Amino acid sequence: MSPSRLDTDLRDRLHALDRAGLLRDTPTLSHPEPPFANRNGRRVLVFCSNDYLGLAAHPELRAALAAPTAELGATASRLIAGTRPAHHALEARLAAFVEQPAALLFSTGYAANVGALSALIGAEDVAFSDRLNHASVIDGLRLARGATHVYAHADPDDLERLLRRHRGTGAAWIVTDAVFSMDGDLAPLTELRRLADRYGAYLYVDEAHALGVLGAGRGLAIDEDARADVVVGTLGKAFGVAGAFVAGPRSLRTYLENRARSYVFSTAPPLPLLAATDRALDLVRDASQRRARLRRLADQLRAGLRQQGHDVRMDPTPIVPLPVGAPEQAMALERALLERGLYARGIRPPTVPPGTSRLRLVPTAAHRSAHVEALLSAIRDAHEAP
Ligand SMILES: *Cc1c(COP(=O)(O)O)cnc(C)c1O
Repeated sequence: MSPSRLDTDLRDRLHALDRAGLLRDTPTLSHPEPPFANRNGRRVLVFCSNDYLGLAAHPELRAALAAPTAELGATASRLIAGTRPAHHALEARLAAFVEQPAALLFSTGYAANVGALSALIGAEDVAFSDRLNHASVIDGLRLARGATHVYAHADPDDLERLLRRHRGTGAAWIVTDAVFSMDGDLAPLTELRRLADRYGAYLYVDEAHALGVLGAGRGLAIDEDARADVVVGTLGKAFGVAGAFVAGPRSLRTYLENRARSYVFSTAPPLPLLAATDRALDLVRDASQRRARLRRLADQLRAGLRQQGHDVRMDPTPIVPLPVGAPEQAMALERALLERGLYARGIRPPTVPPGTSRLRLVPTAAHRSAHVEALLSAIRDAHEAP
C-alpha cells in the first residue's frame, strides 16, 4: 500500500520538527525503586520525576491501591451515577488540608485548570496571567470567553500597569502558578494578594509544585498568608498518585459542578485511586522530614552548580533549571548524562521560550547526598568532555 496523503503530510511535519531539534521521544521506564529506574533497558539514576517526596512507590500507597474495593470504575460522570461517598470524603479532607471550605476533584491538573478557568472567566471578565504559567492555565484562559492579559514573569509592577489599563465590566482574575514548573521560582504571592485587594480582583493559585513540598506542605498561599480565592492542587506530583482538585468557597464547588465542562463530561475518578490518594494525604501531611531532606538536597545541587560557574538561582524549590540555550545543546547534555548512568530531561520550546532550553534537574526525598554528588560530577565531566 502506498503511503496515504495524511501519512506523507505528517512525516513532513515530523521532519521539520527534527530539523529544528524539537522532535520528542517517549522513553519507557520502570521505576519501582526510586531514585533508580530501568530506562529503555538500562539502570539509571533519575533526576526528572515530580515524585518530590518519593511516595509514588511507597508500600502503603501500593497497599491502599491494591486493597479490595467493592467497585473499580465509577461507571459514569459525577453528575450522572459516578459519585460515591469516598469522593465527598476525599474532597472534604483535601479542602481542609488547604484551609478552604470546599473542594472538587478533577481527573488531572490539566483538566482542573482548563475546566475551572474556562468556567469562571466569563465574557465580561478579564484575566491577568503570568507569562510563565503552566500550559494547562494558558489553555484554560484560551477557552475562557473573557480577555487575557499576560504580565511579565513574577513582576507585580507590570501586573499593576495592566490592572490599571484593563478594567473590564465584570470580574478581574489574577492567575498564577505558585511554583513555576520549568524555572522552579516562586510567584510573589504577597504582592499579588495586595494588588488583588487594591484592584478588587480575585487571586487564582495553581499549587501543583508547592503542595506537599514547601513549608508545611499545604501550599505557598498558606505559607505566605496570601489568601487565595481559588486554589488548584495536583495529586500526581508530591502525592505520588494522580488527579487534582480545585478548592475555594462552597459556592465555587457548586458552580464548577454545574459549569466546568472537564468535570461534567468526564467519568468520575475510580475508587481504588481515591483510597490511595486518601492514604497519600496522610503521608504528605506527616512528611516534614522528607520535605527537609528534599530542601537540603536541592540546596546542595544549586550550590554545587553555582560552584561550577552555572547561572543557577538559590530558590527554595526542588526544580533546578540548568540553562543551556539551544535545543540541540540541551539534548546533547541529556545524552552525555545518560552515558554516565543519569537521567535528566532536556526541556525545549514550546515548553519553554525559544533560546532558553535547559536541563530540568529535580532531586527528590528518595535521593541521598551522594546521588546529588554523582549528578554534579557527571555534569562537570560532560562539560569538560568535547
Ligand atoms: C503538572 C502541572 C499541571 C497538570 O497536572 P496533571 O495532573 O499532571 O495534569 C497543572 N499545573 C501545573 C503548574 C503543573 O505543573
